[in-house]
Amino acid sequence: MEKQKKITSNFIYKIIHKDLFINKYKYIHTRFPPEPNGYLHLGHAKSICLNFNLAKIFKGKCNLRFDDTNPNTKHEKYINKIKNDILWLGFKWDGKTRYSSDYFDQIYNFAIKLIKKNLAYVEELSLKEVRKNRGSLTRKGKQSPYRNRKIKENLILFEKMKNGEFKEGSACLRAKINMQSSCVLMRDPILYRIRFKNHHRTKNKWCIYPTYDFSHCISDSIENITHSLCTLEFQENKKLYNWILKKVSTDFVPKQYEFSRMNLEYSIMSKRKLKILIEKKLVSGWNDPRIPTLAGIRRRGYTASSIREFCNRIGITKQESTISESMLEFFIKKELNFNSYRLMAVINPLLLIIENFPDEYEEKIEISNHPYNNMGKRTVIFNKKIYIERSDFMENPKLEYKRLSLGKKVKLRNSYIIKANRIEKNKHGYITKVYCNYYSNIKKNNYKFSKLGIIHWVSEKNNIPAEFRFYDRLFTHPNPEKLDNFLSFFNKDSLIIKHGFIEKNIKKHHINYPVQFERIGYFFADKFNYKKDYPVFNLTAKLSSYLNR
Ligand code: ATP
Ligand code: MG
Repeated sequence: MEKQKKITSNFIYKIIHKDLFINKYKYIHTRFPPEPNGYLHLGHAKSICLNFNLAKIFKGKCNLRFDDTNPNTKHEKYINKIKNDILWLGFKWDGKTRYSSDYFDQIYNFAIKLIKKNLAYVEELSLKEVRKNRGSLTRKGKQSPYRNRKIKENLILFEKMKNGEFKEGSACLRAKINMQSSCVLMRDPILYRIRFKNHHRTKNKWCIYPTYDFSHCISDSIENITHSLCTLEFQENKKLYNWILKKVSTDFVPKQYEFSRMNLEYSIMSKRKLKILIEKKLVSGWNDPRIPTLAGIRRRGYTASSIREFCNRIGITKQESTISESMLEFFIKKELNFNSYRLMAVINPLLLIIENFPDEYEEKIEISNHPYNNMGKRTVIFNKKIYIERSDFMENPKLEYKRLSLGKKVKLRNSYIIKANRIEKNKHGYITKVYCNYYSNIKKNNYKFSKLGIIHWVSEKNNIPAEFRFYDRLFTHPNPEKLDNFLSFFNKDSLIIKHGFIEKNIKKHHINYPVQFERIGYFFADKFNYKKDYPVFNLTAKLSSYLNR
């Protein structure tokens, strides 16, 4: 219900609703058009949720179209990853996978059409000169000496371009629009350039490739996209989008609408920048759990449903906004609180010896796997030596300290009440052991002691050593995306590896299922590094109780 409410309140929903109401369209058709030059990130998830959900709500269709106009040998590497990520998010595109390159023939014919209408010409100035002559917002554009070539000459030259008779960079095709336009993009934009590169699909059929602006609107039109949704930086391009479609007179004219990009606090979203982090080996790859790629946050334990809910709740507007990390965490924590298995782990261990507990005795304690969900029970072993967190003991505590200290009682989670008697230190003054007594006669759930602090523990004999990977914000600056020197704000402590112990109850199913290590946080097993006798866990989100320690 919530989800529905939020989607229906966004401005694009309202536009579509009206378009259908006034019978402008019989049904709607959207598309998601990624460039296969990296993995999908949370920003893409926002666009995916928008496009696919609108199609779903209005019983329309949503295409997946790879924008592969720019030949790049790496394209193939990313295509399957992107498809898998969309499916994982819970969406399925209509019909076959599409590619802008499917339309290279049609796009080429439209270029010829523009030349024949005297609306495009072959430019032979260098790219540098083209850029210089284009001017800026404050500087007027200057016409190229090649602008007034005859149609016939342009047709011959464009044919030569296509046949590989020009060197890369020595010619391009430009639209003939208006060099004085207040919109710089409309000052004779480039439509085709020469690239002697193998294309992952069309191989060496072409050595001229359309620009994004030229191919995108035509591809939308060929696919009968009714509402072409993109991010705000394409607002200016809309003029060109509409100009091209009008001048090549396609059968169908889609309409473009823009919404703001998603930015995440203390993080970066752009693929280009993420690639720099990977190339510089500051992160381990596209699926490093610290970066906001879907592969990264999935490895960290984020679920598709939590991401969908997050994307739907942040809404669609035209205002630039940066989302806080806590907002993202909120949705996953809500879900994990409900469905993660509870287990006990001790990360920074302190040995506790229970002096009045029989030496070799092992007591089996049955514990629920979840405080209120029926997720079964498990047995943990309690014995004379146990580990607790070092931070759960203080030699000289303040009055309000509620955990273990000398002469004070504390409750061991799911187990007995204990009192600390004395400590042992090494020659550096570091506490090595705490000697305690336990109260075998106090029932484990005695309400009289309900105000006592509760601490978690793991048997010293009955445990598995494990690795815990704690993740923190990627940058120390809240808006690194906006900075040229963003790398100098990289948080060197964004990954901290800790070692500790977990109760022996870790089972196969925990590998694909979230766990909460009680009083620490939610974790997800790292499949790439997991060993049965030495499991590795990625932190999804800390519990607030842990933050306060
Ligand atoms: P990047 O800068 O990360 O490469 P992009 O816009 O170039 O982003 P594309 O693969 O071309 O990436 O994007 C596919 C679709 O996803 C586009 O419609 C684009 O507008 C949308 N998109 C990309 N990044 C974001 C974002 N941060 N927020 C919302 N939508 C986004
Ligand atoms: Mg891009």
